[in-house]
Amino acid sequence: MDNTIQISNLERHFQRGEMDVWALRGIDLTITPGEFVALVGPSGSGKSTLLNLLGGLDRPSSGELWVAGLPLHNADGKARTAHRRHRVGFIFQSFNLLPRLTAVENVAIPLTLAGVNPAERAERAAAMLQKVGLGHRLDHYPTELSGGEQQRTAVARALIHNPSLILADEPTGNLDSATGAEVMGLLQTLNKEQGITLIVVTHDADVAAYADRVVHLKDGQVAKEERRTRDTEPGARPDADTPHSPQPIPHASSSRLSFADIARTALRNLGRRPVRNMLTAGGVLIGIITLVAMVSFGVGVQKEVQRNFETIGLENIFVNPMYDEAALDSFDPFAPPKPQQPITPDIVAKLRAIPGVTAVTPQLQLPSGVDLTMTLQDQSLPVRVSSDMGERNFQFGGVNEPLAGQLFGDGENAGMVLTSGLADRLLTGGQAYADLVGQTATLTVKLPRGESQTFTTEIVGVRESFSSRTIDLGLDETAAILAWWYDRPNILAEDGYNMVVVRAQNLGMVTAVSEAIQELDLQAQSLETILDAANQVLSLLQALLGSVGALALLVAALGVANTMMMAIYERTREIGVLKALGAASGEIRLMFTTEAALIGLIGGVFGLILGTLLGRVVDWAAHRYLINQGVTGIGQLSVVPPWLAIGSLIFAALIGLLAGLYPAARAARLDPVQALRHE
Ligand code: ADP
Ligand code: MG
Repeated sequence: MDNTIQISNLERHFQRGEMDVWALRGIDLTITPGEFVALVGPSGSGKSTLLNLLGGLDRPSSGELWVAGLPLHNADGKARTAHRRHRVGFIFQSFNLLPRLTAVENVAIPLTLAGVNPAERAERAAAMLQKVGLGHRLDHYPTELSGGEQQRTAVARALIHNPSLILADEPTGNLDSATGAEVMGLLQTLNKEQGITLIVVTHDADVAAYADRVVHLKDGQVAKEERRTRDTEPGARPDADTPHSPQPIPHASSSRLSFADIARTALRNLGRRPVRNMLTAGGVLIGIITLVAMVSFGVGVQKEVQRNFETIGLENIFVNPMYDEAALDSFDPFAPPKPQQPITPDIVAKLRAIPGVTAVTPQLQLPSGVDLTMTLQDQSLPVRVSSDMGERNFQFGGVNEPLAGQLFGDGENAGMVLTSGLADRLLTGGQAYADLVGQTATLTVKLPRGESQTFTTEIVGVRESFSSRTIDLGLDETAAILAWWYDRPNILAEDGYNMVVVRAQNLGMVTAVSEAIQELDLQAQSLETILDAANQVLSLLQALLGSVGALALLVAALGVANTMMMAIYERTREIGVLKALGAASGEIRLMFTTEAALIGLIGGVFGLILGTLLGRVVDWAAHRYLINQGVTGIGQLSVVPPWLAIGSLIFAALIGLLAGLYPAARAARLDPVQALRHE
């Protein structure tokens, strides 16, 4: 492929408000491969504009510009990026080294952009620095280098990817004349030895003296051309006949900035403003803490409620009589309400006959204030009867295992179950709980009037409980005591049980059984409906608290966007340099979105940790409180399941990423020529 540069009638004008500025007005120029051309002319004559067009940083208004067979005048962004990345090396007046990178890393940038692996590019960059005489400055930062050293580093960077064309805009403008001469000597050697086409903009006659040809620009036109005879005979130039052959431009896919490098760059950039980025991440952190703590409680409490309801059994249906509204305001406001349909033993039999019912357990309560004394052999102790629903069935987290004998199971029952506290008082030396089981005790019931009656009962089991005076009393005994207390032998047949627990075969039968129960004019309530209601309340609570976290995250997103906008402003010039060195717009965008996502992710990680800790602390405090209140057996209330941990991290990163989208698009859209001018 011919490496010739062919420029014909090239024009570039800028619209500055109402005014048209003609930077180039019809340039015709042919530059042969391996030529060293100096562009000179007064300030504003269009030298930089021409150089930028040659580098594919800018597009002409009209005319043609061919470089090595590529029509740059109508090449799209991709082609111009590839042109910069593979064929061109830029050298700037102000060096434009990236301040946070060492000399080696700066030189390696074009290789990084071309997707060369880290080991190879470090090696090649070091070799190139050696070549420009900076072998002893490899790991120095730009601020630690002199002007001449910085420019030599920039020359190394321009050469590292083997370009066929070097474009230098006033490379000695910021150097003293001795150092400038050194750099020009270096460039001249490269041009001579490697046959690289060299185009140098300068207004220094001494610098122009190095060139084969000096092109004078004036008012955007070629005013004069001088061909200079060099000290060496043309024939003596070893490469004169074999100028640098252009490398074929690799496919874009095979030479792309790797994501590992993008992530590394993003991390490094975050490290440049640690305080600012930490503060920004702090916004995300607060949002994630709120979210994680709240959701973890929602999950934990829901789990705990579910677990406790499940130990009771979701197949249970609680059957109560219905009470007539009208009957309530009858003559005697103090009379107990009469049920529409009392749950008599007949009804219990009917309940048992409903298909899908496995157990029917009636419950009967003694009136409060019944004075009971239990006598076992020679000991007499005052006792009270547990209320079925209150203690036995709703022991949250409690284990339903008897300490001795057995507990009341499903169905009708008789006898008496002692609590361990009470059993302890009854034990005589050497006896175990099991020795109490099977013994016959008497219960003495005393009416307020003073009459008393004795009932016999058998101890059937002992269960765990702190209480030292509670017994569970069988239905037979309870019914007998009630009949005597009210002096109504048929009280059970007439008034019925207080309630009945009906157990369905399985969860699927619960609805059908409930309906059958309702047809008997009874009220049926399953734990499932209660659980559903509880879950709804919990979900609502979770949603409410979650939205507080979401609001915090929204504010955090604005913070991230703001930080990224500031970062772009600060790094405008750097973005221009990266673009000049061959970074594609998409890569710049990816770099900034990655950075924003990282801010989010960092906030997310710490938010997750702190949120989990906060949950644990509140959990601990809640347990302290509950234990003080006498509630035990509650499991962990703050639970962070894997989906919450991973989800919150992804969410945090996503917040950052979304917030970074617009700033990143702004960065990607930056015009490289403008960006390079930015101070
Ligand atoms: P030189 O490098 O020879 O000093 P330039 O090529 O930078 O000159 O500029 C040539 C002319 O074009 C100047 O008048 C300059 O003001 C104008 N110019 C260059 N770039 C722009 C731009 N982006 N917008 C408007 N005018 C511009
Ligand atoms: Mg200029």
